[in-house]
Amino acid sequence: EWLSNKIAAGEVVERPSSVVKELVENAIDAGSTSIEVFLEEAGLTSIQVTDNGSGMDEEDALKSFSRHATSKISKEPDLFRIRTLGFRGEALASIASVSKVTLKTSDGEHNGLEIQMDGGHLIEKKPTAFRRGTDITIAQLFYNTPARLKYLKTIQTELGHSIDYMNRLALAYPEIAFKLVHNGGALLQTNGRGNVQQVIAAIYGMQNAKKMIPFSAESNDYKVHGFVSLPEVTRANKNYISIFVNGRWVKHYLVQKAIVDAYHTYLPIERYPIAVLYIEGDPYLTDVNVHPAKLQIRLSKEQELLPLVQNAINQAIRSAIH
Ligand code: ADP
Ligand code: MG
Repeated sequence: EWLSNKIAAGEVVERPSSVVKELVENAIDAGSTSIEVFLEEAGLTSIQVTDNGSGMDEEDALKSFSRHATSKISKEPDLFRIRTLGFRGEALASIASVSKVTLKTSDGEHNGLEIQMDGGHLIEKKPTAFRRGTDITIAQLFYNTPARLKYLKTIQTELGHSIDYMNRLALAYPEIAFKLVHNGGALLQTNGRGNVQQVIAAIYGMQNAKKMIPFSAESNDYKVHGFVSLPEVTRANKNYISIFVNGRWVKHYLVQKAIVDAYHTYLPIERYPIAVLYIEGDPYLTDVNVHPAKLQIRLSKEQELLPLVQNAINQAIRSAIH
């Protein structure tokens, strides 16, 4: 099993930001309302994620590091109707196999538990006083996979990936208070009050947030809503477009193109808006099970969705300008 964990790690855990993503998604799945992420050296030295979610009892905590141990699929058909973010039950096992892990957790009813793992092996397990929730620290990521270490980019690039994910998770979950701290300095802090515009302000600054306008539209199969910037916003690039499908951040070229096309008469080519788009639809229409990292997605009925997005945004801009 240790070997297959290490192989799976190559798929799931590409870089520090993959660890941040998996750990924060676990915290979200656990019902947390506050999630804090502390990185040292972009996560290469350590990644700590603290949440106030359900926590785990001793049995679940020990089980959480074995492959395909997920508490999130109760019966087979669930695989095709995925609501929680995690569902493969391989993230923790993969991460643990290529790092040194310290886990503190408590379900608030039983004693807290502290577990230490090294390269996927249990090193220590002891009771500890801990409030309800989970605190997990990943140290020395990839210390036993030199090839993976070598492939990593600069601290700034690796940090950039984690900031990207955190920004997107904060936008996807405005009702959760997120904090991202790097080498002691706060890079992102949201208040968890459920206001998307306040999250936009936390990420892109108050000046830009003031230049965002809301839109929404609905068709048979899809509901879309969100915020887009007025064309005058100049700093934005492609990366300032965020697309969420049923709460999950995705990359989807054609949807991105529909957003940009909505600006066709207002925005010079090679300029991009800030845009936050939420798409809701039946999970059957959205095939999330495409890649282990779950960022790529297939959507059914694109011919219905794309014009819905483009028209909604185009109309919102037009009425804001005229
Ligand atoms: P998955 O998220 O796909 O179920 P993971 O390997 O990420 O698989 O996690 C394994 C299990 O560990 C989860 O199903 C969950 O039961 C438990 N778990 C992990 N992180 C947390 C957390 N922060 N709070 C509560 N439970 C957690
Ligand atoms: Mg998970």
